[in-house]
Amino acid sequence: MCGIIGYIGYRNAVPVLMQGLEQLEYRGYDSAGIACYDHKKADFILVKEKGKLAALREKVGDFCFDAHVGIGHTRWATHGEPSRVNAHPHTDASERIALVHNGIIENYDTLKKELQRKKIRFVSQTDTEVGVQLIGRQYGKTPQKDLFEAAKEAIPKIHGYFAFALLSKDHPETLIAYKRSNPLVIGIGQGENFVASDVTALLPYTRQVVYLEDDDLAVVTRKDVRVFSLKSHSWVRRSPVTVHWNISQARKQGYPHFMLKEMHEQPEVLKNILKKRITKKEDIFFDTLPRGFPGRLKQIEQVYMVSCGTAHHAGLVGSLAIEQYTRLPCRTQVSSEFRYGNPILSRKDLVVLITQSGETADTLAALREAKAKGAATLAVVNVVGSTIAREADAVIYTHAGPEIGVASTKAYIAQLATLLLLAFYLGKLRKKIQTSQLKRLIKDFKKIPDQCSKVLKEGKRFEACAKKYFSRRNFLYLGRGYNYPTALEGALKLKEISYAHAHGYAAGEMKHGPIALIDHEQPVICIAPDSPTYDKMISNIQEIKARDGIVVAIGSQGDQNLEKIADDLFMIPKTIEVFSPILTVIPLQFLAYRVAVLNGRDVDQPRNLAKSVTVE
Ligand code: GLU
Repeated sequence: MCGIIGYIGYRNAVPVLMQGLEQLEYRGYDSAGIACYDHKKADFILVKEKGKLAALREKVGDFCFDAHVGIGHTRWATHGEPSRVNAHPHTDASERIALVHNGIIENYDTLKKELQRKKIRFVSQTDTEVGVQLIGRQYGKTPQKDLFEAAKEAIPKIHGYFAFALLSKDHPETLIAYKRSNPLVIGIGQGENFVASDVTALLPYTRQVVYLEDDDLAVVTRKDVRVFSLKSHSWVRRSPVTVHWNISQARKQGYPHFMLKEMHEQPEVLKNILKKRITKKEDIFFDTLPRGFPGRLKQIEQVYMVSCGTAHHAGLVGSLAIEQYTRLPCRTQVSSEFRYGNPILSRKDLVVLITQSGETADTLAALREAKAKGAATLAVVNVVGSTIAREADAVIYTHAGPEIGVASTKAYIAQLATLLLLAFYLGKLRKKIQTSQLKRLIKDFKKIPDQCSKVLKEGKRFEACAKKYFSRRNFLYLGRGYNYPTALEGALKLKEISYAHAHGYAAGEMKHGPIALIDHEQPVICIAPDSPTYDKMISNIQEIKARDGIVVAIGSQGDQNLEKIADDLFMIPKTIEVFSPILTVIPLQFLAYRVAVLNGRDVDQPRNLAKSVTVE
């Protein structure tokens, strides 16, 4: 979490940093700050403020800068409360170097005590300050005030996973950047260069980027970027790549919130995925699988789906599809449990890691665990070139475009679509799906983008429903089969942006506990489209009605049973069960969105959360 930005070039650095932070604010909004080197004053100008970027913007307005180099930060606090003192950038005791940091310094306590013994005084409670003080002490020892040398010496003493950007007063013609597990990209311009936690911050200026690798220490000037690997202890070449996203994708384009905009992009995302993945001959094609990988997939005896949050729900759907269409056993686990659970893995296992950002710390650790144990690893990732995409044996990109809203919507839909395609692909590869069956599946799949548009058009109908229930503090979500994960996802969406308590449950489990919650005030969202377990779902709904509960149902068009029993009803177009989670989740996204708006919540930046969780 947290966003880092750095600029060096011919422009006024302040607007560049502020615009970059705006793009990165989804990564954290506990505080924000910038440090620039002012050429006239020959000094740093350091401005930081607690809270969202708007507070910093107001403060920055008071200052007059003549700066062409600077670093900036938007924070998601791990060590030390959100406050001005704890806000980044932090400086060392001599106030000659400034640093912004993403991640955690795990041995900060030991290092801090050592530095305090050497009479270094700390002003903040952050782990970050330990990093800058350590580098600062080393810096003081270098004869030429060499920030690169100081960082090179000090960084190996720091434990944990993190990324830094650093600036010194003595050599403001250079920025230093370092990455270990946490994301950091360098934007390559003409007569200017950039450092950022993610490419969206760079899109207004350049699409040429260098993805740093772990333990890369970059020396960035206006004219060039040189990279020294602390792993190999040598200067290395990192070739720039072209990013295909554009800036309008990362703007709200008239929508009040990114979340709403991203929900409306879902049909386009689906169309795009199908266009990319389905060949003229109605086959499935993944362009990024390395040669030899499909051969390895043929040998697999077991699959694991490993992911966090919303991606975990996509994994649950994917897992059902893999079992159904390949008859391979498939287990789904959250990354943080998988990585510490000493999983039993061998070369015969495939571990699929699902992550929007490709930087999720727990998923990255799970990937490394799986690789160390010899399993084949396949990343399903949205952000091209991200760490997990690069480290896995193979990657399939989900092509959802940049997702800025903290509550994932289009990235989830893209994960669902991609995992279903993967299941069909594996089924075909392992001869569990016949060509004719695949053709039928593809035919149905191709209808989904238009059906998705239809559901979105009717989304307004959920407005009335949200108005009825927005002040309730408890919601129950029930589903079965492929829509049990939808119940989990619907509940997660609601709680993360509206702060109401919401619980997703397998409908068949209701009688084993949650039924005790049902009374005339309890809204129960029942996901009941056409499926082999539809009748069971209807029985569960009857059980809720019999206890006076409120039923908000999602069903398939033409369902007269539901019309009779539901208090509120939302219909999705008819499709087969395996595709239904793509459609049923949309009304639930709307419900969560509307409830949050009616409660006056900050939909795109819900409290305590941030996107791209790069801490464990
Ligand atoms: N650990 C640092 C802090 O608490 C950085 C956290 C982050 O990545 O946002 O300030």
